[in-house]
Amino acid sequence: MNKGLYVHIPFCLRKCPYCDFYSLTDRSTAAAYVDAVIDEYRSLDGSFDTVFIGGGTPTSIGGELVRLCEALPKAEEFTVEANPGTVDLELLKSLREAGANRISFGVQSFDDRELRALGRIHSAAQAEEAVLLARRAGFENISVDLMLAIPYQTVGSVKKSLDKIRELAPVHVSAYSLIIEEGTPFYGKRLPLPSEDEEREIYWLVQRFLEAMGLKQYEISNFALAGMECRHNIKYWTLEPYIGLGAAAHSYNGGRRYSNAPDVAAYLLGEGRELDSEIITGEEQLREKFWLGLRMTGGIPYGGEFPEAVEKLTGQGLLEIADGRLRLTRRGIDLANLVFMEFV
Ligand code: SF4
Repeated sequence: MNKGLYVHIPFCLRKCPYCDFYSLTDRSTAAAYVDAVIDEYRSLDGSFDTVFIGGGTPTSIGGELVRLCEALPKAEEFTVEANPGTVDLELLKSLREAGANRISFGVQSFDDRELRALGRIHSAAQAEEAVLLARRAGFENISVDLMLAIPYQTVGSVKKSLDKIRELAPVHVSAYSLIIEEGTPFYGKRLPLPSEDEEREIYWLVQRFLEAMGLKQYEISNFALAGMECRHNIKYWTLEPYIGLGAAAHSYNGGRRYSNAPDVAAYLLGEGRELDSEIITGEEQLREKFWLGLRMTGGIPYGGEFPEAVEKLTGQGLLEIADGRLRLTRRGIDLANLVFMEFV
């Protein structure tokens, strides 16, 4: 079976105050890091139909990222995550020529005040320019990330970001709510966040607006034109195998999960690999199939498993069974965490 290949690039220009991903602002080891990832890739068996280079900020290492793309397999879907403040036409063209055919921009908002509050390095104008440059460089499969429930955000400001998205016409949008994680500078700070009611209004507006653009909600946080869903991310939700390369990368080989340590120095020494190995038994696999698979709006094939939980959740109008599939209702999408809790 074809697998997914994920590569974690743990470097960023600057640390955003809400971020708890593993990344360093010292990029002096980027070349050695790319060498180590290429070595790890060459030690693998099997074939890969999707590649996803995420981070961190992959585009913050410029030419080293191009060198990495050249060494990785020319997968049918090959995504690079990009920060709009770290790309130019030359880099985008080089990435395209090196095999990348999908680009995912961490735009987050088209409102400069919101971007500043998030500590992002780019402006709304740079985000717009980046999408246009990507298209000029030959990328048709362009995704834009939009962040919800962020400081200063209102229904009106989201509407403006959505209008800009409609103008730029990406084929895919990911819309995630800001989660304030412990240990980040945002944690414990008084922030001008939208109220819970406003947050819900914002989410419904995003759903309605993107669907009206023809971007179908295929997963709780992801919208795409038909056929442009992210095949790599779908592997995570449908328990297909994927291998993660690099510091802090996670892998699932179909029966076992493991991860590399979030430590570039150890990674460069060949240490801290395949840690936290966990065999996923039949019962756990079934639970994962439910709480991950139900994130997809098309649901999962249903054969009568977990009858009590399913009866309760269908009774509450959160799940429905149709054509042999179990899936979230509209209300279930809003209250998805209540559903997932039943299966975790
Ligand atoms: S650019 Fe992305 S990975 Fe880097 S610090 Fe900001 S949110 Fe985190």
